[in-house]
Amino acid sequence: MTILSDLAARIATGAVRVVDLTHTLDPDFPVIVLPPEFGQCARFRMEEVSAYDHRGPAWKWHNLSLNEHTGTHFDAPSHWISGRDVPNGAVDEIAPEALIGPVCVIDCSAGAAADDDFALTPEHIRDWEAAHGQIPSGAWVLMRTDWSHRSGADYLNMAEDGAHSPGPTPDAIRLLLDRDIRGFGTETVGTDAGQGSHYDPPFPAHYLLHGAGKFGLQCLRNLDQLPPTGAVLIAPPLKIKGGTGSPLRVLALVDQT
Ligand code: MN
Repeated sequence: MTILSDLAARIATGAVRVVDLTHTLDPDFPVIVLPPEFGQCARFRMEEVSAYDHRGPAWKWHNLSLNEHTGTHFDAPSHWISGRDVPNGAVDEIAPEALIGPVCVIDCSAGAAADDDFALTPEHIRDWEAAHGQIPSGAWVLMRTDWSHRSGADYLNMAEDGAHSPGPTPDAIRLLLDRDIRGFGTETVGTDAGQGSHYDPPFPAHYLLHGAGKFGLQCLRNLDQLPPTGAVLIAPPLKIKGGTGSPLRVLALVDQT
């Protein structure tokens, strides 16, 4: 058998499992809330155009509206000012092969359960590498926090001083860039911590990753179903002309044998 026919057969039998890392697009799913002086991210909205009725007797369909960064979504380099001049930095310009790669999952769930502001540090990454080997070049790196089990107000976890949710330190992102990762993903509403504006640089995941041409994934789920290494992630955003990101279906292929 060829690699591809073997893969297709293994997916059909369940020997390779397809894990869906995507939340359902739903008007109630939380979106990031910025300070009021800034423009705001729109929630997902779905308007019925017809439903097998006088507006269209044999068909049902909807008009959609949403922000590029609504729901489980992809961040392109052009999302951040540091990545504005990155070649091929918009979603429609990214080469398709750049969207598929091996995935490393760093389990921060215990830390995030104990501390809403849990910070992923270089020490955590080095401890993970001591157990699982060095993060390979071209890897997607996902920060598992089990934050996706939250819903409603607990998901953004807003307080008087803004959101409180886990995320990486600037030095953690610098180490991931040393490893030449493909992108970094989280279960929270952003790749940065809720209090990420207080780092130098502010929002280090956005600033440093996108400045280096790397990608972000947010609002992921089911990371607890992935092994630390060995799975393959497929994360193609919509092909929006000049788009800075998009909702997408994120799939992981996991070898069950
Ligand atoms: Mn985003």
